[in-house]
Amino acid sequence: MYKIFITILIVLLISCSSETNEKSIDLNEPSKNIEEFTFSNTEILNTDVNCEEFDTYVYCISKTAPVAKKYPKWGTLTGYSPEVFCSTDLPILVCSETAKSLLAAMMEWGSYGNAEYWIIGSDKTAAKNLTDLNCHRRKERDQMRLEDCEWKHGPNGDHGFESYRLIGEESIRTNQPSGSAGLNGDRGWGFHYFTSSIPIGLTDYFLYIEPWQEQKLAFHEYFHAFQHSFIETEDYDKRDKLLGPVWFNEGGAEYMAHIGFKKSFDEGILSTPIKEDTTNPYNFKDAMRNKLEYAKMSKKEVCPNLDIGDMSYQNDCNGASYDLGTWAHILLESKQSAPNILVDKFYPILEENGWEKAFNKTYGISPEEFYVEFNSFINMSTNEQIAMLDKIIASYNLK
Ligand SMILES: [Zn+2]
Repeated sequence: MYKIFITILIVLLISCSSETNEKSIDLNEPSKNIEEFTFSNTEILNTDVNCEEFDTYVYCISKTAPVAKKYPKWGTLTGYSPEVFCSTDLPILVCSETAKSLLAAMMEWGSYGNAEYWIIGSDKTAAKNLTDLNCHRRKERDQMRLEDCEWKHGPNGDHGFESYRLIGEESIRTNQPSGSAGLNGDRGWGFHYFTSSIPIGLTDYFLYIEPWQEQKLAFHEYFHAFQHSFIETEDYDKRDKLLGPVWFNEGGAEYMAHIGFKKSFDEGILSTPIKEDTTNPYNFKDAMRNKLEYAKMSKKEVCPNLDIGDMSYQNDCNGASYDLGTWAHILLESKQSAPNILVDKFYPILEENGWEKAFNKTYGISPEEFYVEFNSFINMSTNEQIAMLDKIIASYNLK
């Protein structure tokens, strides 16, 4: 039960939302107040961060990589530092570790464009301060009108700061760990915009929630930015279609997040902050096994007749679409001769081909054929399934 609980928790932690389409923004209006900046180095070289504590927010950026002064062309590799903004009621570790994890993810997959990551605590005044900062920024950059921004982040807004604040507040009040993060910006803004509730694994609220879960979450979120970087169109529906089904989009982000985090961890690029009571240190195989057990249980008990291809954010087999999707990517990748097929092969050919054709070209099989294969795979014994991980571990050279 404990294992199941932890797995459910992980599902909660990774629940995230995709880009929204803010119709009120003039997408053609240039960003007036952001100066020209020419970048010479497109690589992030380390995860060293600089954090400043201001009266109304905490701000963490790379020690060495520059912050963008002008949004680059969409999908360009830049070497820009992400900007992490945090509520002042959160420990500074929350801000610094998230910034480090984003930098590590950028070292793994490249730094695409500019990224802002906003972390909201539970305190109302601190959240208000962060909202003011964010809304002035959006206004100055001609991305949102002040009143629209304030409405979005108020009690009636969708995926606004208040909704994320409430998740943290509720979690603490009920003593039930939960969290949420999402890539919530608009393509027309020209940068990757993330929002997060309290990353509880980096706080002392729940000692049994490990920091690695939050570090991995930052990889998951940044992978969404990576995916979006390969989709140029500003048409929301076209973008949504190109991302593919939930199992592919979320399972891909989750699978690559674990691979990316594990690699950074193995290479010493990232280390996990030590908690006094560490009962569940990161182990790639265990994490994948937990996902498999939860996915199989959900498939059997909740959605025995639902193909992964028919799952959506609304109809997601009790959240199992992420874990089923992770294992679908493991199955797909286990048949390849080289690792990183999503990053190296699929996304670069996505937009010109459309999702189905890009899938077919990448994996040599149609999605429908794959669903049949995946259905028989998911009914195999756990030992046979877990054995597949050895190939993945060898191919990525994981320790
Ligand atoms: Zn996600």
